[in-house]
Amino acid sequence: MPYALAIHGGAGLIRRDALTPEREAACSVVLHAALDAGEAILAAGGPSLEAVQAAVLVLEDSPLFNAGRGAVLTGAETVEHDAAVMCGRRRAAGAVTGSTRIRNPILAARHVLEHTRHVLLCGPGADTLASEAGLAMVEPSWFVTPERVEQVRRAVREDRFGLDHDSGADDAYGTVGAVACDSAGHLAAATSTGGMVNQRPGRVGDTPLIGAGTWAWDATCAVSGTGHGELFVHRHVGARISDWMDIGGLDLTTACDRVIAELPAEAGGVVAVDRHGNIAMPFSSAGMFRGAVSASGRTVAIW
Ligand code: ASP
Repeated sequence: MPYALAIHGGAGLIRRDALTPEREAACSVVLHAALDAGEAILAAGGPSLEAVQAAVLVLEDSPLFNAGRGAVLTGAETVEHDAAVMCGRRRAAGAVTGSTRIRNPILAARHVLEHTRHVLLCGPGADTLASEAGLAMVEPSWFVTPERVEQVRRAVREDRFGLDHDSGADDAYGTVGAVACDSAGHLAAATSTGGMVNQRPGRVGDTPLIGAGTWAWDATCAVSGTGHGELFVHRHVGARISDWMDIGGLDLTTACDRVIAELPAEAGGVVAVDRHGNIAMPFSSAGMFRGAVSASGRTVAIW
C-alpha cells in the first residue's frame, strides 16, 4: 500500500504582494523539511502517527509558523498554545489547550493520548502533565517575539480579531498540521497553533477540538484544518467530512470539497487523506501554505 502525507502551514488572506520572495522561499524550505521528516518514517514502513508528529515538530520549531515559538498573541500579549493528535486505527485522540510553558505542544498532546485516560487537558493542568512527563518546558516569555507583540498591538488598535495570515502584512505566519496514511493503511492527524491574533485569553479554537480541526479514523479519513476556528467548531468540519464518507458514501475529494464549499468565503481549508493514500487539500481562503508527498510525487504550494 503506498503511503501519503499532507501538511499545512495555515490558511488566510495570503497576499502575493505582501509575501517577499525571500519569505516564500524560507517557508518552502521548512515545508519541505517537514515533509522530509514525515516521509522518512513512512518510507521505512513506520506508523502514520509518528509521521504526523515528526512533521508538526519541524513546523512548531520554525518561527515562520503560528505554533510553538513565534505563535500569535492574545489581546493580553500572552501565548496560549493548542495542539491535538488523533490515531485513526484506535480512533483515539489526545490534545492540550491554553498551554503556556510546553516547548512542543504536539508532544504533550501525544502524551495525553498515550498515557492518560483523557482526551483534552487545559492550561495549568496541561503544563503540569508535560512537566511531569519530562517534556522540555520554557518560560512563557520565551514564546513571545517582538514581531508578534507589534502584530497584536496593531490588531488591538484596529479592533481586529483574525487569522494570522489575514493581517495582510509580512509578519503573518500560520497554524500547522499534518495528516498521513502509512503503508499498513492506518491514518493519523496532528494540528498545532497559537490560535488567532488578538483572541481573548482563554479562547479555544478548533485545533484541539476533536472532530472540528483535527480528526482521524481509518474507515474514512484523517483531517487537519486551518482557518477561522469558530466556523470550524460550528460546522464540525473534520467529523463532517468523515460523515459524508461514512454515511453519505462520498469519496475523499468530494466530501472535502462539499464541506469547504459550505463554509463562508475566506473561512480556511483542510489537508486530508484516506486509507487508499488519496490526498485532498481544498481551501476557501486566498491561500494556504501546504505540501504533500505520495506515490504521485511531491508538491509544495501557497495559492
Ligand atoms: N484554526 C486556528 C484557530 O482558530 C487558527 C488558524 O488556523 O490559523 O485557532
